[in-house]
Amino acid sequence: MSTDKQKKIAIVGAGLGGAAAAALLQEAGFNVTVYEQSEEFSRLGAGIHVGPNVMKIFRKIGLEQKLSDMASHPDFWFSRDGETGDYMSRIPLGDYALKEYGAPYITIHRGDMHATQIDHLKPGTVQFGKKLSGVEDSGDDVLLSFEDGTTARADIVVGADGINSKIREVLLGPEDPTYSGWVAHRALITGEALAKHNLSFEDCVKWWSEDRHMMVYYTTGKKDEYYYVTGVPQEKLEFEGSFIDSSREEMFEAFKGYHPVVQALIESTESVTKWPLKNRNPLPVWSEGRLVLLGDACHPMKPHMAQGACMAIEDAAMLTRCLQETGIDDYATAFKLYENNRKERATRVQSVSNANTFLRDQEDPAWVYGYDLYAQDLKTEG
Ligand code: FAD
Repeated sequence: MSTDKQKKIAIVGAGLGGAAAAALLQEAGFNVTVYEQSEEFSRLGAGIHVGPNVMKIFRKIGLEQKLSDMASHPDFWFSRDGETGDYMSRIPLGDYALKEYGAPYITIHRGDMHATQIDHLKPGTVQFGKKLSGVEDSGDDVLLSFEDGTTARADIVVGADGINSKIREVLLGPEDPTYSGWVAHRALITGEALAKHNLSFEDCVKWWSEDRHMMVYYTTGKKDEYYYVTGVPQEKLEFEGSFIDSSREEMFEAFKGYHPVVQALIESTESVTKWPLKNRNPLPVWSEGRLVLLGDACHPMKPHMAQGACMAIEDAAMLTRCLQETGIDDYATAFKLYENNRKERATRVQSVSNANTFLRDQEDPAWVYGYDLYAQDLKTEG
């Protein structure tokens, strides 16, 4: 590690995966800079589940308690028939998750989680307003060019730059992600708006019918903010970009005939956005030369297992483990080891998530939540 301290790791993208990679690499003693295209981050209106598999990684980062204190801790993930309300599954979380999986299961506002991750990094780690435009791997190091005209050099570069990754493009050529044919509506509802209804709103519940669903949960420990995210088929997209405003009318139309609790949620909606769900097939390579990918840059998925960011954070933890194992000079072995120890699991999660079957019926999710990345022997063969 003594020589590694002088070597530079560049991470492109300070999303949930990039921020986790920066924290873990710093914690391991590496010298890290993160280049992020945004000028700043805002508290985007969305929630996120974080499974025990990833809370164990936040333990390593030193943020498990802080995130736990902010978050909601559902006792169950319920799946219910959208029309009749009948229970299709009751997946125990809460104390059961602590005991069986070794860490809590939380739901939280993703902006709050992200801000907590960024604040945890050493001051100056993230350079904002740095949109990567060019990458040159000379063999001895990598030259990164940014749209603002500046450049930076690094010994290795981690592409944590999301589904439209520039680093992926350098590795594999330009190719747009494919539109899955589904959109996700997202809305936050205040506790006050919920209190107006004489109904019971469960901590974490997914309402299902044949071709669509609505996932609903709290984003704070105080339960003053409730969140829904849908999956609704839409053949053609009427817009470009990452999201567009939707409306209560559109939601009533999409969830016509659904249970009174769902109708109450739509009625309580002040603003709702609509996001196209995009995808890629598993990539043939995860790294080349001094460049390596993680998270959505590598294996984007439909979000229906609530594990996309979790896989990005698991990637970050495994990549750090592998670099600790080999040192930066032997990055080629580290990258191979990383892929050997991530590809099978990330691809399995990607495929189950895309199929949107997870926890619809009673099943044992231990293969996802019980996984302890730090307890795995490293596989040298893929
Ligand atoms: P991103 O979060 O996309 O971050 C990429 C970063 O790179 C961004 O900050 C971006 O600005 C930056 N960037 C991009 N290009 C450049 C460039 N050229 N130069 C510099 N910076 C650049 N996952 C869960 O685990 N649980 C959930 O409950 C969950 N719910 C979801 C609900 C919906 C509707 C959606 C769409 C996704 C959901 N996900 C969930 C998935 C999760 O959001 C993604 O998998 C996760 O954000 C991927 O993290 P990432 O760091 O790889 O990429």
